[in-house]
Amino acid sequence: MKQVSILGATGSIGQNTIDLIRRAPGQFNVVALTGGRNIAQLAADAMALGAKVAVTAHDALLPELRAALAGSTVEVAAGSAALIEAASRPADWVMSAIVGAAGLPPGLAALGQGATLALANKESLVTAGPLLMQTARANEARILPVDSEHSAIFQAMVGEDADAVSRVIITASGGAFRDWPLADLARATVAEASSHPNWAMGQRITIDSASMFNKALEMIEAREFFGFDPEQIEVLVHPESVVHALVGFVDGGLMAHVGPPDMRHAIGYALHWPQRQALPVAALDLAAIGTLNFRAPDPARYPALRLARDVMEMRGLSGAVFNAAKERALDRFIAGHIGFWEMNEVVEEVLTRLTGDPAEMNAALTLDCVSRMDHLARQSVDQVVSERNS
Ligand code: NDP
Ligand code: MG
Repeated sequence: MKQVSILGATGSIGQNTIDLIRRAPGQFNVVALTGGRNIAQLAADAMALGAKVAVTAHDALLPELRAALAGSTVEVAAGSAALIEAASRPADWVMSAIVGAAGLPPGLAALGQGATLALANKESLVTAGPLLMQTARANEARILPVDSEHSAIFQAMVGEDADAVSRVIITASGGAFRDWPLADLARATVAEASSHPNWAMGQRITIDSASMFNKALEMIEAREFFGFDPEQIEVLVHPESVVHALVGFVDGGLMAHVGPPDMRHAIGYALHWPQRQALPVAALDLAAIGTLNFRAPDPARYPALRLARDVMEMRGLSGAVFNAAKERALDRFIAGHIGFWEMNEVVEEVLTRLTGDPAEMNAALTLDCVSRMDHLARQSVDQVVSERNS
């Protein structure tokens, strides 16, 4: 039986992972489940799956978790050190599905014990890609991509010579505002940005899809995970969301990965890898879809893609700045302090302020310096927002 842990078990990816584990009785033993505020879900899943330990990220919620699991054999713990401890418990496979840079330390801990890390948490690759990849190598641990585009690239490259790849194209649905007049984006509300045309996901990644910050993170993710050069990475808007990525080879051929917009495909591929198992995803009816559309993203509508190119060139700590600035700008948008379009301007301003010194940007990546830069970038967002609002 494969020993598995799920970091971010109460979220959208975490719940889809649990759904797949439930559908494969006798194949998996659950070691650790972690969550945040959704204590009822965490406790219910920990009991149903017979987890050894359940951890909430929030110290203050420990009594609630303890009460919910009273009388069960599940150990309980809370806080960031407990998340790392849970991720360090021996397991064969760990799902990294915490949202945001908070997923980095537990992800590193899982790699540190040699587990295969199924990586949904793209923010950890954007923030500290070289550190994550090097930790995997040092511990002979494997990282399997779960983001649908990166799973698609990974699958399209099976059996291929990586040196023969000339380009990759990742697709984007265009998000909630793809057909809105550009001038209306400044007035877009949180509720409007939180509805996705094709995918059901957590709120933060859904808003990031509307702004294309999600695609920006994914470009950097592709660079860090596969080692592609920035100019090899292209983005196309593809409103049907059935072609997830295409890999181009030196002989002009393109391998496209096609599937329904259901994350259980990419999660299931990583869960059962290197085998393929039947998954509860709908068969794609291409005749019903009829037409697949592709178009180049409008640079005026999606400044985040240009910022991602800058970060892919700079590398080093610029990824930590970019991700943290994006996360904090998103917090401030959700809280109603800045408008939807202002997220672009605030992130660009913070990148300009904090990435000017090449020596500092290229300092060796350690968890400490990444955390410091993450903190500085969040502070800088607050500074920029207060300057704009004063
Ligand atoms: P959700 O917001 O649905 O879930 C996030 C999970 O992380 C929850 O378990 C949440 O706990 C927990 N969490 C939140 N904040 C913290 C914190 N500070 N420390 C520890 N745990 C925390 O997100 P998604 O499932 O949508 O996304 C998870 C990751 O997967 C993200 O990195 C996202 O970019 C990536 N991803 C998601 C896709 C999707 O389809 N959803 C597709 C591709 C990638 P609680 O809810 O209990 O508070
Ligand atoms: Mg994706």
